[in-house]
Order: sequence, then structure tokens, then C-alpha cells
Amino acid sequence: KTFLAAAAASTSLLAHAAIAQDTIAEKVDALLAEMTMEEKVGQLTQYSAAWEVTGSAPTGESEVAKRFRHVESGLVGSMLNVIGTDQVRTIQEYAVENSRLGIPMIFAYDVIHGHRTSFPLPLAEAASWDMELIEEGARVAAREAAAQGLNWTFAPMIDISRDARWGRVMEGAGEDPFLGSEIAVARVNGFQGDDLSDPLTIAATAKHFAGYGFAESGKDYNAAEVGTVTLWNVIFPPFKAAIERANVRTVMNAFNTVNGVPATGDEWMQRDILKGEWGFDGFVVSDWGSAVEMIDHGFAADREDAAKLAIIAGSDMDMESYVFRDHLEGLVETGAVDEALIDDAVRRVLTVKYELGLFDDPYRYIDEGREEALLMAEEHVMAARKMAEASVVLLKNEGDLLPLSTDDDVVIIGALAADKDAPIGNWRAQAEAKSAVSVLEGLDAIDFPYTYVEGAKVQIGDAGFGDELTINMEDRSGFDDAVKAAAAADKVVLVLGETALMSGEGRSRAGIKLPGVQQELLEAVHEANPNTILWVMGGRPQDLSWADENVPAIFQGWHLGHESGNAVASILTGAYNPSGKLPMTFPRAVGQVPIYYNALNTGRPGPKKEVFWQHYTDMTNDPLYPFGHGLSYTDFDYSRLRARQRGENVEVSVRVRNTGDMAGQEVAQLYIWDRAATVARPIRELKGFEKFELAPGKTKTVSFTLTPDELGFYKGDGSFVTEPGAFDIFVGGSSAAELKTTIDYKAE
Ligand code: BGC
Repeated sequence: KTFLAAAAASTSLLAHAAIAQDTIAEKVDALLAEMTMEEKVGQLTQYSAAWEVTGSAPTGESEVAKRFRHVESGLVGSMLNVIGTDQVRTIQEYAVENSRLGIPMIFAYDVIHGHRTSFPLPLAEAASWDMELIEEGARVAAREAAAQGLNWTFAPMIDISRDARWGRVMEGAGEDPFLGSEIAVARVNGFQGDDLSDPLTIAATAKHFAGYGFAESGKDYNAAEVGTVTLWNVIFPPFKAAIERANVRTVMNAFNTVNGVPATGDEWMQRDILKGEWGFDGFVVSDWGSAVEMIDHGFAADREDAAKLAIIAGSDMDMESYVFRDHLEGLVETGAVDEALIDDAVRRVLTVKYELGLFDDPYRYIDEGREEALLMAEEHVMAARKMAEASVVLLKNEGDLLPLSTDDDVVIIGALAADKDAPIGNWRAQAEAKSAVSVLEGLDAIDFPYTYVEGAKVQIGDAGFGDELTINMEDRSGFDDAVKAAAAADKVVLVLGETALMSGEGRSRAGIKLPGVQQELLEAVHEANPNTILWVMGGRPQDLSWADENVPAIFQGWHLGHESGNAVASILTGAYNPSGKLPMTFPRAVGQVPIYYNALNTGRPGPKKEVFWQHYTDMTNDPLYPFGHGLSYTDFDYSRLRARQRGENVEVSVRVRNTGDMAGQEVAQLYIWDRAATVARPIRELKGFEKFELAPGKTKTVSFTLTPDELGFYKGDGSFVTEPGAFDIFVGGSSAAELKTTIDYKAE
């Protein structure tokens, strides 16, 4: 505060009050008219926190010192990674009171799956197929983040991905554009609420526009080569949905090149499609340093060129490249960049700031009382618990091992069962390290008797960013104890998989087997006691093919956040009947990747295993577990599938019966195949789903309406068509649903 210019303080807010326009657009225009070029460029510059973390103001000529002076004099539009109400307040004071016009800053943070209260990974949440819970999760995260003075999250990540090697699949909603769009809308609505100026909501970011999830070979940041049909039908839809159905206020572009052009410099994508065709009126933020990385891509000649290419392409705010700051003014002076482009970008940024209510009161988000009351509030933890339970997928359940009873003599094996950190996962925002309820603690909380043996470590040391990730653990010294304990028990629960930072940004894996010696441990334990239940943790599909052939029961348990152990305990004991369905196909081996259900057919369709040219010579073509797969402790039977055209829509109905003896939730999924189209269509595409609960013996009729939007598709030129003709319609509990009917769709 010693840096504050006290004199400026009295004038800045008043300057705005004097501008008495009615609408935000008028206010923005009036403010813009007063701004110098330096002030405009400031609004387009975003810095990450640096000196705030250490507490002392840097001096001298270093980059950090330069940034500090820039912030101190109110010439920065936004900061990320500023944490805690104190720091936010101090910096907001610089912005508002030290600048000539008193324009407030907007504070961003990666609030990805919860803020302090940790929720399951986004990919795990996607497995719930429960839009209400997902929206609620984002709402809770927004409340906690906003209570810390933040106004903007860099979420949701809505990149579609088909590649289990890519470390960031944990952060998305999986492989399907229809499910991905529904989840994108739910998350944006959760973050942004009905009224952005409510200080319990924050602006959301649809990221990364676009194609980042198609990084070749699953290597993070790698080039994406995608055909236009895939771009329009698979990659774009969640972005379009987030804009048109949820009014997402910001979009982040991407590090990668798409078909040779860096996303940050892609004018067609950002100006023609995003802001043009879709009418996006929020602002585009670059990814971290992605403007300057265009030099590495071989697209921009130098920093000045990078600034020019980024602004022309429609990137409005520069995160951590400093190229706008250093070059935009000069580029406008020489006429290389039209001032109107700068004005448009500034207008967009100011508009969102007005919508957030920051001009009315720049400190409205900063409330220590709220921070104290909301972080880890009891109802937030309850929401995280519900979400965790709903995220688990029962992959296989043979024999009669589940649910566990207190009469069973159970041994729990695996370091991850005792791990309080792994379940928090990557992109953990403000969740405290080692704060999750472990599996063992979850069982203790319900007084479930068990013995525990570690068996094998998953990792040694800290696998933080920049550190060497030690996954080649060769230590088998715990095997003997594990095998002995397994042999002596009735049932074994083996908890294996990835620790928190084995997935996430920069955490791609070339292999997807269980890390370290865990596969060997699994085989040894299973040999000692075949009554083995495998609980898999992790941020991506892992290779479970041996387990599927040998182990009677398998759960995909992801990283479930703070409430992990409680959710595991309630599922293992049957207090919660598992209801999750896979949002990504699980391959049999990494060599099948990319593998996804909504693929085109070949002229030689399988799966006739005996004809070798219809499959790999060493493996079948089909996945281990298809998209949409997930079992329950009860069974559901589908029958009486009917479809008929009504006007331009197709009405579909199906009967679902709970044939088991336990209540359970099912996700009925509808898929179509447009049998002959001007562009070949995938053999199955999800076009509807409904999650519901059914008591044992009860039947429900589920209805779907397919509109021309759902029956149609984009051609490679971006035009949308709905073509008459035969459509196969499949409904069932996964993308492998066998119940099918065909309709002859007529043009209206
Ligand atoms: C990621 C973004 C993230 C940004 C800010 C980048 O490395 O790709 O998704 O929002 O950092 O933390």
C-alpha cells in the first residue's frame, strides 16, 4: 500500500460514476474514448503472480521488476495465480487507485475440479453423466474461488480427446462431442450462474480453442492434424454449445498448431468462426506464452510479429508472452495493426469486467468473512461426496464378491489405499496437499473391519512439476507380505493405479500400463487369492486387459477428490450402488490408441475374429470396455424400442426394467447411424441420454426426441445438413447397445 498514490484514489472511481450511460456497451464506449494507447494495451495484458508470492517488491531492471512497476501503475488488465483476499485486495488497489481511469483488474485462476474443496477430476465427473451434479460442482468451486477474490476461472477444458496417452484427458469430458457439449454447458452454467455480477459466481473459460486434445501421438503440445469433418463435428461442438447455450464469457486458445497454423494465430478459427459465425462477444485469452511460442512453431518471425499475428487473428488478451505490452503500440503507430482491432479487443475485456460488476465495486469479490465461511463449507464437502460416488464406474462384476459385508475377512492391498494425496489429482487449485480421505480412512469411518498391506509403492518422492517422475519402481520387497495376507483372507481389495501427478499437463505417457511393479503385484496377489477386487485410480484409461481376463471385479475409481475414501467405502459396501459410465473408450493395449466408439466403418467391418485382415494380427479391433460402459449391482433390461417420425422430429421410446434385487441408477443412451450420407457418418453417435433411478422389479419408459439438429451433421465446408434416408437407432446401457430399430427419415 505504500506504493499507492493516495491522490489518485479520490478521483478514479468518481470518474466512472460521472459516466452516466445506461447500457454496458455505452459505458464501455465512453471509457474507451478516454483511453490512451498505453492504457488500452494494458487491458490486453495478463501477468502471472510473481513477487506477491515472496512478498517483497522487486527492484532493478529484471523482467519481474518491470512487471511489478507496470502493475503498480495500473497498466495491467488481469493477473492470474494471485491467491488470497489480501493479495487480491492489494493488487486491485494498484489497478483502481494508481491508474488514471481506475479500471479494475480481473483475477483469474485454474479452478478445475473444486477450489479448496476438491472434487473428482473432470473426466471422472463426466463418468457420472449427471448434469445436475456436474453443474453443482462448478457452482461450489465458483463460490469458493469467488470468496477468495477471484473472478474468472480457466475452466472448463472442453477439448475432445481420443488418446489415453495424452495427460490432459483427466481435465476434459472424454471423447464424445454430444456428452462433451452437455457437460460444457453444465460447467459453464455452474461457474457463471444466472447473474455474473453476483459475487458468488465467476466468469468461465472454454478452452483450448481448438484441437489441443488431438495432439499427435498423445504428446502434450504436439501438432494436431485434423480433417475439417472432424473439426466441425467433433472438436467444435462443445465450444459452440458453451457459447450459444451457456454464454461463456471467455475462450482460451491453444498452444498447438492445427493443420499447420498455431491456434493463437488462427484468424479463420477465431475471427471467422468463433467471433463471426458463432457471434462470441466475450474475449479470447491466449494460453500461457502461446503468442510468443508462435516463433518456435516457425509461424512468427520474432516477438513483434507474434504480437501482430496474435491480435490480427483475434487473440484479445496476452497471457505471459508480454508481446502485446512490448509491441502493440508500435505496430499501431506504423500502421501494421489497425487501431480498430485493439479497440475491439479492449471493448470485449471491459465488457466482461462490467458484467462482473467490477466497475460498481472493484472489491466486491473480496470478503474475508465469506472466505472463512465458504472454503470447505459442509455442504460443499457433501456435494463433493455425492459427485465422487456418482463418478465411479464398475467395469466388471463376476462371481459374488460385491458388495462387501462386515462378515468378510478382507485385506486391502496397495499404497494408494493409504494415500491421502493421490485422490486430489492434478490441477488441484487450492486444495491442500494430502487432504483427501484415504480408502483406509473411509473404511474406518464406517467401522468396516479389514487388514492392510502396502504391497508395493507407486512412486518415490515428490512428483511435482519439474521433478523427475519416478515410476520405474522396482521394489518388490512388499510382495511376500501381500501374497501371504491375500492367501489368508476371504477377499482382497487391491488399490492400484496412478498418483496425482502422473496425469495432467505435460504428463503424457507412451505406455498406459499400471505404473511400476503394480501389474506384477496384481498377478501375484490374484494367484494367491482369486477373490480379488481391483480398484483403479488414475487420470486416464489404463491397460486393464490382464485384469479383465483374470480378476472377477474391477472398478475405475479415477482420482475422486477430497471425499475419495468415503465414496470408495460406500460403494464397496453397497451403501451406494455404482452408476457411472465411461466417457472414454478403454483400449486393450496402447497400440489401439486412438480408439473411439464414434468411428467410421471400413468396407470390411468386423468383428469376425477368425478373419485376420479384419483385426490386428495380435489382437482384436474392439476395445476392452466401450464408451458408455458401466455396470451396477443390479441389472437393467431394455426392450420395446420404438421410433417414429413426427413432423421433422423422430420420437424414440424404450422400456427399461430393473431385473435385479437392488435399487439402482441407469443411464439409457441413444445412438444413431445415418446409413447413407453425403459424408460418411460414424457407425454410432450418441444423441441422447437419461439417467434415472429404478427400484427392483420396476419398469420405466424412457423417451427421446431427435430433432433435425441431432440427425444432421457438418460437411467439411462447415455447412450443416440433415439428410433424409435410413437411420439406425440403438438404445441401451452403453455404446455397444444391441437393441436396434431403423427408420426411414423423410424430408418435411
Ligand atoms: C494451460 C492452461 C492454463 C494456463 C494457466 C497453461 O499451461 O495450458 O490450460 O489455464 O496454463 O495456468
